[in-house]
Amino acid sequence: MDDKITLLRKMLSGSRYTVALCGSGMMEEGGFIGVKKQEKAYAIEEKYGYCSDELYTSAFYNTRPELFFTFYRNEMLNFPPELTASGPAMAALEKNGHLHCVITSNIYDIPRRGGCQNVINLHGTIYENQCPRCKRQYPMEYIMNSKRTVPLCEKCNIPVRPLVSLFGEMVDSQRMTKTTLEISKADTLLLLGTALDSEVFSHYIKYFTGRWLVIIHSKAHYMDVSASLVILDHPKNVLPLLT
Ligand SMILES: [Zn+2]
Repeated sequence: MDDKITLLRKMLSGSRYTVALCGSGMMEEGGFIGVKKQEKAYAIEEKYGYCSDELYTSAFYNTRPELFFTFYRNEMLNFPPELTASGPAMAALEKNGHLHCVITSNIYDIPRRGGCQNVINLHGTIYENQCPRCKRQYPMEYIMNSKRTVPLCEKCNIPVRPLVSLFGEMVDSQRMTKTTLEISKADTLLLLGTALDSEVFSHYIKYFTGRWLVIIHSKAHYMDVSASLVILDHPKNVLPLLT
């Protein structure tokens, strides 16, 4: 492990532009199991009578808003991942010029809350909510604490929309373009808590033409062999050693 840390420090020092991709492992290290994970999927189907692939969709938001918001509040808002040492460590790397952009698929704004500046929240965050009609913005607490099951816009009386990408929805095209651009600029790409075959990131990773591809995640994956360096541990145990 020490040798790998030394090597990674050298890579980062010599890297012109470093981009980090944060996958679901960054939530798991904070104790959050994604709703698509097998260990949670069964319990969800038992509890709601539908699987998360059906519940967490714009179809359910539009046609079954009670069920959508019950699910959203219980499974997404009530027990968010705990913040770990990863966020502040990435912020410190950014501050001393060793990390230039952080791209995350998580909706909890973990890098920015850790202090990172240049962040792309590819799937939006729980903190942005908007009335689809008048575009009025509502804080996360409005959704969380609404006395009604379905939080309504105070002016239009229609359900407020959490600005997160639901399953099956297209990712915001500006964010997609920015992500592609950042990755194509990168000299070093860090995959944190995600593997090369990631459903979210694999499409973007194709644009990486830099020198070092580094993977830090807790479980080995057969595609790890394509990386320049692999560290099998939670990012929260590794990133602070680099600052
Ligand atoms: Zn409105």
